[in-house]
Amino acid sequence: MFENLSERLSGVFDRLTKQGSLSEDDVRAALREVRVALLEADVSLAVARDFIKRVQKKATGASVTKSVTPGQQVVKIVHDELIAMLEGEDDAGALKIDNPPAPVLMVGLQGSGKTTTTAKLARRLKEREGKRVLMASLDTNRPAAMEQLAILGTQIGVDTLPIIKGQSAVDIAKRAKQQATLGGYDVFLLDTAGRLHIDEVLMDEVQAVRDVANPRETLLVVDGLTGQDAVNVAAEFDGKLGVTGVVLTRMDGDGRGGAALSMRAVTGKPIRFVGLGEKTDALEVFDPKRVAGRILGMGDIVALVEKAQEVLEVEQAERMMKRFQKGMFNMNDLKMQLEQMLKMGGMQGVMGMMPGMGKMSKAAEAAGFDDSMLKRQIALVNSMTKKERANPAILQASRKKRIAAGAGLDVSDLNKLLKQHRQMADMMKTMGKKGMLKQAMAGMM
Ligand code: GDP
Repeated sequence: MFENLSERLSGVFDRLTKQGSLSEDDVRAALREVRVALLEADVSLAVARDFIKRVQKKATGASVTKSVTPGQQVVKIVHDELIAMLEGEDDAGALKIDNPPAPVLMVGLQGSGKTTTTAKLARRLKEREGKRVLMASLDTNRPAAMEQLAILGTQIGVDTLPIIKGQSAVDIAKRAKQQATLGGYDVFLLDTAGRLHIDEVLMDEVQAVRDVANPRETLLVVDGLTGQDAVNVAAEFDGKLGVTGVVLTRMDGDGRGGAALSMRAVTGKPIRFVGLGEKTDALEVFDPKRVAGRILGMGDIVALVEKAQEVLEVEQAERMMKRFQKGMFNMNDLKMQLEQMLKMGGMQGVMGMMPGMGKMSKAAEAAGFDDSMLKRQIALVNSMTKKERANPAILQASRKKRIAAGAGLDVSDLNKLLKQHRQMADMMKTMGKKGMLKQAMAGMM
């Protein structure tokens, strides 16, 4: 998958990374080519345009380190933005199927690969997660589809609900629920009927099934080969049914990949799995990082820039530490610390990492320190002028009032922050003298 796109992009970036220096025009020209490549891969125009805009903005503001070339930097930015564009659930493969028996609704057009995917998913749940799975076909219009699921079930050793002719889809869904409960199944997959096109009757039926089944997950199966159409289908299904995720099939083919790239941006729905073949084991959890890597094929450069960024961060931290040791700790420093804390998992996370701070962490929790407090404090610093940040000693009543109002908070909140700042500044100074600061910082890194 993504072969054509990948080839096009590597052409663009090969040239770009070979150049020692880059003008803004060079970058712009390269990004124009990237845009064309995306459009050729059937990424929607709006999505491609937004993507390029974001990359351009970041490329202009990127802090350049000496050890990487501007071209390499651009590759890294494109890589990160690709991941952001593909971004899915934290763990796309983890279905919400606690509380047995958990209903999972499989929906999609006929021929999208829905029945095959139902069996793939059942196999995965059984073999990888040790779940007891029941499958049921609700395709009352196509007896062959019901047979197909039964055959697949036998192949993979997963039970299917016995077929009773003449039952409606809703009745089958009810029976599946009953059987799943009585039979002690962990999860039951409902393979709903598909049509060639979206129509009212189909949607009404699937809605009725959804209402009786009350699914924990509603997975939409779409054919990845159909590009932008797949995205349009997803948007429609989601509007009518509210899907919890998308499975893109036929990603083993030489499709242009546009569906994968536009899906999240257009529908807001994460891709959870991709189908990579006809066999029942050809299902993969969707992994934006790996996909971005596959598309760009420039893992070395990405790793290089990441390393350089790490070095840069360490250098910045060291500079900061030197300042602290000298007792220089202004509101900007405090803000940076607060932001860092948020990034590192909040107050508790940070204190847990610092030696000897475990107890303080508990005290902090008891005193009501939490992430929303960190955010409020950052808002207060943001509300200060440059001068005030550099020298909080100049804050008298009127300034305090203005700052608090600017952050939508009370002066008492600001006073607390100032007190905290003084305490931290004192602590930094003492720790600096005793050489403890270095130790604490090392613990945090
Ligand atoms: P349904 O009508 O949506 O239930 O579609 P089916 O599950 O019957 O699949 C239609 C055809 O697509 C079958 O021949 C499947 O083997 C094939 N198919 C399904 N998923 C994939 C996939 O990920 N890759 C490939 N190459 N073929 C697939």
